[in-house]
Amino acid sequence: MYVKVAVVFFLCSLQLFSQQHSHSEELLLMGSRFEITAVSGSQTLSQEAVTASIEEIHRIEHLISEYDPTSQVSEINRKAGIAPVMVDYELYSLIERCIKVSVLTDGAFDISWAGASKIWRFDEEMTALPSSEEIKNMTGIVGYSNIILNRQDTSVFLKLPGMKIGFGAIGKGYAANKATAVMKSMHISGGIVIAGGDLVTFGKPLNGEHWTIGIANPENPREALAWLKVDETAVVTSGNYEKFVMIDGVRYTHIINPKTCLPASGMKSVTIFCPDAELADALSTAIFVMGTEEGLKLINQLKAIECLIIDDANTMHTSDGLKLQFYKQNTDTNSSKQSHIFTIGQ
Ligand code: ADP
Ligand code: MG
Repeated sequence: MYVKVAVVFFLCSLQLFSQQHSHSEELLLMGSRFEITAVSGSQTLSQEAVTASIEEIHRIEHLISEYDPTSQVSEINRKAGIAPVMVDYELYSLIERCIKVSVLTDGAFDISWAGASKIWRFDEEMTALPSSEEIKNMTGIVGYSNIILNRQDTSVFLKLPGMKIGFGAIGKGYAANKATAVMKSMHISGGIVIAGGDLVTFGKPLNGEHWTIGIANPENPREALAWLKVDETAVVTSGNYEKFVMIDGVRYTHIINPKTCLPASGMKSVTIFCPDAELADALSTAIFVMGTEEGLKLINQLKAIECLIIDDANTMHTSDGLKLQFYKQNTDTNSSKQSHIFTIGQ
């Protein structure tokens, strides 16, 4: 698992805030590496906040996993074309929000993409492309308009046999939001949840200033391409380097265009900055499918949401509210090393 976003804690002013205690844990959740940090006036409270947020993510994983046969999502998928399934309001409303994003993005984000996961597995066993007939069959069952919701009994019905839903593009963002909410409810001074590289921050880091994060270089995801100071923001990246298969020298990435059931192309990475991690997660996937022009057009119409795109030709594109500045990467004045730093909405 690659680290998409590196987090840098500025330790230099530690003495100033020495009464603050930070606790971090790193673990595998929802098939991704999570790193959770809590900052508070007490070491015990920081630890308790991290533990509570991990419990919350486990709970969400069980609720939305399409791989856990006992989850409500698996039941919805099993009953595709057969019958509606009544689900918890929490899951029902998540699906409702997913459909809203589908409408907003003209179907580029679509949880029913998962029907096509039968032909696009992105694992080592996948050595040949699906046939055009297989792809055509999949386009018949992928489409959010066949997800039928009933608010009265909070039921979900996948109209066509073979349909499936999956939360790969939004689940980590949702979990990050909920984990953050749990920590906030414990009145700690700050925290950060890194979910498979997507992240959300609140309050202040240990130094009492700003959270400083690095945006990964798609060429070398362990390196930062740009740095960003953030407060109360989610920063979420979808990259073609995350999960892909190489067939005949061509890279096929794990983000599928729901209309064609073919992997999206033309982009290396899309990073979304927005206060809501769930929306940021969904939009990063959607913009990856929509491409630079359509994608930026949409983002520029949305309030408090910004976007950084790196396309196949390594060209960087930013939405109107994302400003680019330069700063010295380290304090050595002789160093000629420069890096980018972004500010949002100035
Ligand atoms: P990551 O999981 O690497 O952070 P994304 O948030 O972009 O990346 O999610 C990609 C995942 O979303 C895929 O692995 C797949 O599970 C699912 N997915 C792929 N294409 C779509 C799509 N068009 N709409 C919704 N979900 C998708
Ligand atoms: Mg996403």
